[in-house]
Amino acid sequence: MTPPGLIYPKMTVIGFGLIGGSIVRAAREHKLVGEVVVVDASPAHRARVEELGLADTVTADVAEGVAGADLVVIATPVLATADVAAIAAAAMKPGATLTDVGSVKAGPAEAMYAAAPAGVHVIPGHPIAGTEHSGPDAGFAELFENRWTILTPKINDDEAYALAVARLSSFWRAIGANVELMDEKHHDLVLAVTSHLPHLIAYTIVGSAADLENVTESEVMKYSAGGFRDFTRIAASDPTMWRDIFVANKDAVLEMLGRFTEDLQAMSRAIRWGDADTLHDHFTRTRAIRRGIVAAGQESAEPNFGRDRGKH
Ligand code: NAP
Repeated sequence: MTPPGLIYPKMTVIGFGLIGGSIVRAAREHKLVGEVVVVDASPAHRARVEELGLADTVTADVAEGVAGADLVVIATPVLATADVAAIAAAAMKPGATLTDVGSVKAGPAEAMYAAAPAGVHVIPGHPIAGTEHSGPDAGFAELFENRWTILTPKINDDEAYALAVARLSSFWRAIGANVELMDEKHHDLVLAVTSHLPHLIAYTIVGSAADLENVTESEVMKYSAGGFRDFTRIAASDPTMWRDIFVANKDAVLEMLGRFTEDLQAMSRAIRWGDADTLHDHFTRTRAIRRGIVAAGQESAEPNFGRDRGKH
């Protein structure tokens, strides 16, 4: 395959954590960007990026960091996006692209559109790839390989904007992702059921088990292989990130939670009445769904770079 070559002469990533750090590593590895600027609010993280030698410039100043950039990626927690976008967009050059990677799209997108002057192309995005780790050492270049990245561009017939969307799509494809374009509200609904609700369930069940008075903590650890261990991995996900997701995607999460609660009631009734057929039929259907996910290459039957790459 021919190397795709340089896509953005200068890229600025704001927030060097799992996702921002993975984008920088992948873009450098594939030689898709020339100059790399990293902006991060944390002095410790900035010092670590300097140590890693992954950026040409490291700064805490958003306006200074985005000056002259062709691509600006906001990779902070979701609720920081609006404030960061307000400073970044005003300091960007015309023709540049402003994107983000937030797990919720409608709110952050609105904030970015409101902040951007004419000529700055806002293209909200969300890579459906991640792990439960965070911070500057958590990222790795292969994170996005064979994962989906959803972009939620606005619909218009501006040719320059369409070209900016095509350019950003080719950037994501060059670092291994499959790209899908989607309406932002639809994105938030889909992710509420595929990612946000499962995390809520994991956070809840791990808390419930820890609160049980007749089960000791050592028993929870000792017998965790029985399904609980997978929940504990998910429930170890970054508290700030997940606080922001539930605050920002309240409506869609509550809608899906309502449907889930009804389905849980149905399962509860089947158990109470000893309705073995209903239980067996349901479990057969869910097993087929799981096999479909593995067949679609979205689960790690293969070695996974030593890390689990769950979806957020
Ligand atoms: P992370 O590892 O915690 O990294 C976020 C980084 O941004 C940290 O270095 C943080 O510093 C910094 N930061 C916070 N506020 C900032 C601000 N106002 N200005 C500049 N830097 C700031 O988080 P992540 O997991 O990469 O998540 C980043 C975004 O990606 C989130 O919007 C999340 O929804 C989305 N996402 C995450 C995953 C996942 O699996 N983790 C997957 C897909 C999308 P401090 O730690 O000092 O605050």
